[in-house]
Amino acid sequence: MKSHKKLTTASGRPYVENENSQSVGVRGPLLLQDYILHEKMAHFNRERIPERVVHAKGSGAFGTFTVTHDVTKYTKAKMFSEIGKETKMLLRFSTVGGEKGSADTERDPRGFAIKFYTEDGNWDLVGNNTPVFFVKDAKKFGDFIHTQKRDPHTNMKSPTMMWDFWSLNPESLHQVLILMSDRGTPYGYRHMNGYGSHTYSMLDEANQRTYVKFHFKTAQGIKNFTNEEAAQMKAKDMDFSQRDLMENIDAGNFPQWNLKIQVMTEEYANSQDYYLNPFDVTKVWPHADYPLIDVGVLELNQNPHNYFQDIEQAAFAPAHIVDGIGYSPDKMLQGRLLSYPDAHRYRLGTNYEQIPVNRCPFSTNNYERDGQMRMDGNGGGNPNYFPNSFDDMQIDQAYKEPPLEVNSHFADWYDRNCEGENDHFSQPGNLFKIMTPEQQQNTIHNIVTHMSGIEGPKKNQIINRQLSHFYRVDGRLGASIADGLGVDVDMEKLE
Ligand code: NDP
Repeated sequence: MKSHKKLTTASGRPYVENENSQSVGVRGPLLLQDYILHEKMAHFNRERIPERVVHAKGSGAFGTFTVTHDVTKYTKAKMFSEIGKETKMLLRFSTVGGEKGSADTERDPRGFAIKFYTEDGNWDLVGNNTPVFFVKDAKKFGDFIHTQKRDPHTNMKSPTMMWDFWSLNPESLHQVLILMSDRGTPYGYRHMNGYGSHTYSMLDEANQRTYVKFHFKTAQGIKNFTNEEAAQMKAKDMDFSQRDLMENIDAGNFPQWNLKIQVMTEEYANSQDYYLNPFDVTKVWPHADYPLIDVGVLELNQNPHNYFQDIEQAAFAPAHIVDGIGYSPDKMLQGRLLSYPDAHRYRLGTNYEQIPVNRCPFSTNNYERDGQMRMDGNGGGNPNYFPNSFDDMQIDQAYKEPPLEVNSHFADWYDRNCEGENDHFSQPGNLFKIMTPEQQQNTIHNIVTHMSGIEGPKKNQIINRQLSHFYRVDGRLGASIADGLGVDVDMEKLE
């Protein structure tokens, strides 16, 4: 006879009654001693963990990264050690501003967060589908995100807040133009690129540092919704991207991205001879100056069995690097090194890296102990202090990073947009120029539609301020938006 699993409490006691609570008589009140009723209700009440403050709505899958080209002259990272080498990885896509239940086709950047399970530890590359970001300094991040969320008074999204902030922060122009282009509404997650966005570094066997940008180019080809198609899909299927990703992987149609890098020598980056700050996340490194170098291919080939366990609890942090990969002085990256692990400790607890999806499958050894939900054996009977005379743990000096050269003796609050770093217009202008006439028209249409939502007593001021930025990007872009908004532009009055 087939043996069935017995229904049990969380502590393993088999029990019988799962639908009716124990009561005094058929019509009387319930008894306090029906512990199973308490357990069911209490656990249900605690099912939700805090959703991510940003990137709350997401989808993810496991896969493999395979090296196709030799980049060992730039990095000693073991996952790049030989052509053909495979590394297991997890990729979580997301929208940014909406809540966990929001629609997948909203106009928004898309998160592109990767965890590579390498033998030297987990490397998280936590990027977006855009090569740049809205602000240069992490101190502005919370303010910026507030403008993408709900208005504190109306509890609704507010184009007024968005354009007020963007118009007061022209450094956002490059990312705003990408967001308002067709690429602001990608056709699911398979048809968009991913970018590390920040400048990172690589270290070779001789500990020579090279600065690097990461690009993941979709092998499925770029495909986007128009503004109207995205709105229609929002009404039809809130989970379009989740469904598209999951169904394609289930059908064996595994999506792929080609990893490419751009590299800049440490010496040149430090010389300050390049016309732009290579650590400014609002700028790209133009391909003509820094061509793309092939590295490998990433393939998603396994859907998670349980969404909450593997995707909702997945915790990515740019701080998680491995030997052969390093940070850079990018001010947004520096801020994220602190804030991502902090967010995970808040959402998932101090031992979040022991949750299976986050755990390094190779080896972790240290003297961190205890804390809520400690589940990895907690170091057993080994010493919990360092140095000690008892265990055989040793620090391997081969992993020491080389010193970082800095060019100042003065700590201060420097203006991120000082002279020489305040050209917010040329690169958005380059982008507008490489768009086809149809893409330009769509971008103008999307901006006009979005800016038409600006309201309130400061409406004209905000519109004029933003128009002056668009005019400086490209005269035709500014004029077309002004025209679409019905603004009679008095160039004298533009700030
Ligand atoms: P290139 O012509 O060599 O590169 C243009 C890049 O722009 C391509 O990678 C292309 O990606 C991408 N692109 C095309 N249309 C859009 C769009 N609507 N939104 C976002 N990206 C788009 O020129 P440059 O390197 O000189 O860059 C020119 C401009 O292109 C930049 O100012 C920047 O705005 C944008 N860009 C540049 C990138 C870089 O790393 N240099 C990366 C991404 C964008 P694809 O090949 O996938 O179509």
